[in-house]
Amino acid sequence: MQMISYKSKTSSALRITAIYTFVAILWILFSDLVVNFIVDDTSVREKIQTYKGITFVVVTASLLMLLISRSNKALLKSNDIDFVTGLPRLGLFLKMIDRQISNLSPADRYAMYYIDIDHFHELKETLGEEQAESFLVSLAMDFEQHIYPGAIVSHVHADEFSVGIKVEPNTDIENVAKKIQHLVRLQSTVYGMSTTCCLGVALYPDDGMNARQLLSSATSAIETAKTKGNYIQFHDLSLTQRAKQRHQQFLELRDAIHQEQLSVVYQPKYSLSDNSVCGVEVLARWNHPDKGFISPDIFIPLAEDYDLIHQLSKLVLKIAVNELVSTDLVGSCLEHISINISASEFNNPHEMTELMAFIKQTPAITPHIRIEITERAALDEIKRSSELISVFQQDGVSFSIDDFGKGYTSLAMLKDLAINEIKIDRSFVSELTSDSRSRTIVSAIIGMAQSFDIDVVAEGVETGEQLAILKELGCQQAQGYYFARPMPLVELKDHLRLEPK
Ligand code: C2E
Ligand code: CA
Ligand code: CA
Repeated sequence: MQMISYKSKTSSALRITAIYTFVAILWILFSDLVVNFIVDDTSVREKIQTYKGITFVVVTASLLMLLISRSNKALLKSNDIDFVTGLPRLGLFLKMIDRQISNLSPADRYAMYYIDIDHFHELKETLGEEQAESFLVSLAMDFEQHIYPGAIVSHVHADEFSVGIKVEPNTDIENVAKKIQHLVRLQSTVYGMSTTCCLGVALYPDDGMNARQLLSSATSAIETAKTKGNYIQFHDLSLTQRAKQRHQQFLELRDAIHQEQLSVVYQPKYSLSDNSVCGVEVLARWNHPDKGFISPDIFIPLAEDYDLIHQLSKLVLKIAVNELVSTDLVGSCLEHISINISASEFNNPHEMTELMAFIKQTPAITPHIRIEITERAALDEIKRSSELISVFQQDGVSFSIDDFGKGYTSLAMLKDLAINEIKIDRSFVSELTSDSRSRTIVSAIIGMAQSFDIDVVAEGVETGEQLAILKELGCQQAQGYYFARPMPLVELKDHLRLEPK
């Protein structure tokens, strides 16, 4: 934000006045000399002197008009900018925040902090008006430079400031508030004081959908904070608690991935013609040292939201490949090693290329890798998806559409995507025995897939009854607790030894 300071305005006024005085003096001194030199006749000289005087008045008046209109314009502009600190005033600040909010993507958040200096009156009395103002100016500069990259800062009123920041996955919202308190304390020590401040914090979208609503939430939060002094109050306590917990969990997951503390399990997939294992699905597991088993339904969305999913996929792939190459299962009992990837990865060409490069490092495994993508991810951009799929297929990797039927079901997409397998979502399988419509849908999926020569896997088979119906409908493959639960490699080896070949 460009600062229009009082100092720079005063110096420009002085400059204009100096130039004007200089030109006027030159004019008065030399114009008479010139006239006297050129004209001899006294009466003509007097007339010229009169016209010269009139011209001088007209030029000066025009100049004044120009200066006044310029100053009016500057005044209008200064309504947006605070005179003391050079920061945006509230109106402009809210406009700037609204602009930033309108550019956020749906998953993004925005935080607004309202800052109130504790006991500012006492500070003013101790330091005097001028020093107190200088303290606010220094503080404004600190806030602009040190709070957070891209932060928008406003001097709202007397000893009150407000700050808006875009919340990134790594942003610790409370830490930013603490940093603000630290900056206030630090700057006040320069003035021989030990000043604290209170903060009210509001988060978009939970506490408000636009800048004004956020401001109102933040100011109502600060009312509570002010009763305590040197305090940070979030508008929605429970939300803040949840956000903090989730952030903490993200940090732990990030460490677990970096330290390769995740593990994988394998769930066999069966061919229904002879009940033999034809592949395995690799599933990630996180066994937290203190909290124990954490479900993928919790940590996978967390990894997706906090941009960790690609690192997680690479780790899962690395562990599975390392484990499986140490056995002679791949290619003999296990035709397919199915790996799950998330929508965000599938739609990111760079990440997919990186994944492929890793897969190709182990040529013995490459043709057995089957990538499971959710139907929604594949549907996003059908043309690009189909191109990506065929490039990978040239290297021998095959593709499966996971949770088929759950999202934007479109059997028609099968004609556009050269996929190798679809996995019928568990919800249809579980209703097979009770809901005739589920049976009809499953039957249609199987019929259509077969006509495109695509493998069909029924997911989540839990009972013999479900299996019997699936067989009746012509389903070729199945997976589910009825056959086997996901298991670590040692158990998988035993399991495969006992299976009919
Ligand atoms: P999914 O890909 O649909 O995997 C199947 C899930 O259903 C697994 O849950 C599996 O344990 C469970 N399951 C298998 N058979 C049955 C059954 O008969 N009944 C019931 N009720 N459940 C069954 P899990 O391991 O908890 O994984 C949940 C989801 O997390 C997976 O759903 C997948 O979307 C995701 N996920 C797991 N590992 C990874 C991974 O490495 N990367 C990515 N991107 N996602 C993963
Ligand atoms: Ca899957
Ligand atoms: Ca699935």
